[in-house]
Amino acid sequence: MSEGVLFPVVLSAGSGTGKTTVAQELQRANPERFCISVSATTRPPRGKERDGVDYHFFDEGQFLSLVDSGGFLEWAVVHDHYYGTPRSEVEHGLSRGRIVLLDIDIQGGCEIMSTLSEAVSIFLLPPNKDELIHRLRSRGTEDEEKIKLRIQNAQYEIERGMEAYDYLVVNDVLEECVSTVTAIIKAEQMKRWRIEKNSSLYRAFHGGIKQ
Ligand code: 5GP
Repeated sequence: MSEGVLFPVVLSAGSGTGKTTVAQELQRANPERFCISVSATTRPPRGKERDGVDYHFFDEGQFLSLVDSGGFLEWAVVHDHYYGTPRSEVEHGLSRGRIVLLDIDIQGGCEIMSTLSEAVSIFLLPPNKDELIHRLRSRGTEDEEKIKLRIQNAQYEIERGMEAYDYLVVNDVLEECVSTVTAIIKAEQMKRWRIEKNSSLYRAFHGGIKQ
């Protein structure tokens, strides 16, 4: 991807749609162009998760004091735990010349869209309903009631995402999904209003070429 205007990109999806994998693949394939914002959370680390890499693992006091000092761009309660996007993560990524990817839920995504007009929002969809049900069922060994609830929640999340986000991208084959998201970001970088607002390219040509 060429150098260009920088902005945050919200990546959200209903559960079971693999948005974390898509964000990681974008960054892996192009580390000098993309970085992933590391969220803060009060949920305990799982498996091999590392503090400062997968999340900033905070206790409730630390989290709420950052809320009070205005340190989050958005925060939400997800599955009984606090999650939030530290302002510093996004500012730091942009100042290093990166497109900053926010792998966050729909509540957080909507909050970002209402406060940061330059953000781009992309919602990932599963290939079809059967595949979604299959992915949600194969996740754990829970009873039928819990699986039904998870399917209902996923359906609700998808409906909300489809109403609110700028772009809807199907995540069927990972490489195709990553290349579509890359193309969206590249096209967004070429939007005239972004270039007018940010770029020396516009300043160089606007008002005529001096001989
Ligand atoms: P998990 O605990 O499985 O890593 O994440 C649970 C949910 O919280 C996922 O939907 C994830 O995208 C969302 N999430 C992660 N970080 C943030 C954040 O900073 N803000 C919001 N609003 N949601 C987040």
